[in-house]
Parts: sequence; structure tokens; C-alpha cells
Amino acid sequence: MAGGWAKDGAVQEQIDISVQDAVEHVRSRIPRGDSLLNCEECDAQIPEARREAIRGVRLCINCQSDIESSEKSQSNYNRRGSKDSQLR
Ligand SMILES: [Zn+2]
Repeated sequence: MAGGWAKDGAVQEQIDISVQDAVEHVRSRIPRGDSLLNCEECDAQIPEARREAIRGVRLCINCQSDIESSEKSQSNYNRRGSKDSQLR
């Protein structure tokens, strides 16, 4: 029975860590290979200046900022999650 409680906590911890990991991973991601000429998401042309500035860039500015804003909402969600578990 104590095992059941501990397991519950461990699962929650794992979820927190994997969300954090995912955010860290995206932020620290070092793209490999050649820059794409066209955005992976929307197929818009990626300006050469951007391709030179960001080695291995795969997204246009629009899609990149989309991802960045969804990262922000993810970390807000994560923050709320850890606050909640601290209250317990
Ligand atoms: Zn795009």
C-alpha cells in the first residue's frame, strides 16, 4: 500500500521531468546538417541571412516564433504543475 503511494509520486515526478526535458531539448537543440531552403512546416522560403545565422535552420521565422510561443505556454503549464505538487 505504501508502494502504491510511492509509485504515484514517482509517476508524477517522471511527467514533470519529461516535460522539462522536452523544453530543454528544444531550447538547446543544435540543428545538424544543412539549412533547409524552405521551411519544414509551411514550405516558405527561408532567407539566406537566416540560414547563415542559424546553422541547420529548418523553420521560417513565423514557424519558429510559433514554436517559441508554444514553449512559453508549456513552461507556464509546467510551473503550475510543480506549484501544485509542492502544495501537497
Ligand atoms: Zn514556416
